[in-house]
Amino acid sequence: MTLANGREYLAIPGPSVMPDRVLQAMHRAAPNIYEGALADMVDAMVPDLKAVARTRHHVAIYICNGHGAWEAALTNVLSRGDKVLALCTGRFTHGWADVAEKLGADVARLDFGTQGTVDAEAFAEALAADNAHQIKAVLVAHVDTATSIRNDIKALRDILDKAGHPALLCVDCIASLACDPFEMDAWGADLMVAASQKGLMTPPGLGFVFFNDRADAAHATAGMVSLYWDWTPRSRPDFFYQYFGGTAPTHHLFGLREALNMIGEEGLENVWERHRRLSGAVWAAVAAWGQGGPLRFNVEDPALRSQAVTALSIGRENGTRLRKWLIENTGVTLGIGLGMYARDDPEGNGYFRIGHMGHLNTHMVLGALGSIEAGMIALEIDHGRGALEAAARACA
Ligand SMILES: *Cc1c(COP(=O)(O)O)cnc(C)c1O
Repeated sequence: MTLANGREYLAIPGPSVMPDRVLQAMHRAAPNIYEGALADMVDAMVPDLKAVARTRHHVAIYICNGHGAWEAALTNVLSRGDKVLALCTGRFTHGWADVAEKLGADVARLDFGTQGTVDAEAFAEALAADNAHQIKAVLVAHVDTATSIRNDIKALRDILDKAGHPALLCVDCIASLACDPFEMDAWGADLMVAASQKGLMTPPGLGFVFFNDRADAAHATAGMVSLYWDWTPRSRPDFFYQYFGGTAPTHHLFGLREALNMIGEEGLENVWERHRRLSGAVWAAVAAWGQGGPLRFNVEDPALRSQAVTALSIGRENGTRLRKWLIENTGVTLGIGLGMYARDDPEGNGYFRIGHMGHLNTHMVLGALGSIEAGMIALEIDHGRGALEAAARACA
């Protein structure tokens, strides 16, 4: 006997829960990929996709995951030997920097650890030291999904402007897009990468590179541009086939169309606000539990935390024990700890993450939190009282 049977909740930070509307939109026969309804749909969808990124500029769509979007972005603006500065907060910008290195860029990393945002002074110093303006691109994650650190992208733009430095500001919004507020044009990001399976509520398999005219000017001299990943035909196709450099990802596109319909109906600002309120419920519960036990936020200051994911520590072994108990007994799947290891916990078993991105509402979040409390009771993990009431009040 198990209490886990019933509708499951995948509370990991991507892939996120797929709405029934998205699944149903994908359940259909294959369309013509040369002309007709699919081509018309994609033409009409591109402006809606840009609206979610808050950009009036360009987007190239790829059949790939976030790692593919990373590589697509870099090859469109860099040449071998170009200097790249990676602002690493947590794990994911290291991953993007690894791609740049393998492609032949000359990558320098500023590592700000796993608990804090980019240090403004250190970034300004690195730019000041580059008076020959050799740094071509600055890489940063808006939200690092491993640690839940959220960086202030507008502040980074201001630092570049103050230094009069022309490097492209390249932002990874794979975790944050349509979860945390992000304003590509108003905040001055030159390039932004995203993927379908997090805030966009669509299966993994679509990668997006948004870019402005400054980034496109860099493309004109970039030596890494390849036929398949070149963003020019994809962003300004003369005929439908050029959007995808081959057969279109037909069913992903139907799913994405429906997800964008849902975001449009709710309103992007309401989507952000829903994430703010529901992440607030998670944080209220965690704060209360932490009063009487080992559970701790990875990022202490809520102003520096993402509304899409919460990274937590709970003491040796307890993270893995709790996750397993929840899967077996509640139907809730929590995220594993990623890139967070203590010296006495090399496998990160003392960590876990709660994904709260995309298609989620009060009953899902309160259900997951109630399930976590049940797990802590069953496993005799100490915890403070009043967490569920605090979370309920945050939703009231
Ligand atoms: C999920 C994620 C990635 C990697 O995306 P994949 O689709 O798994 O390749 C990169 N960066 C961030 C910030 C992410 O959240």
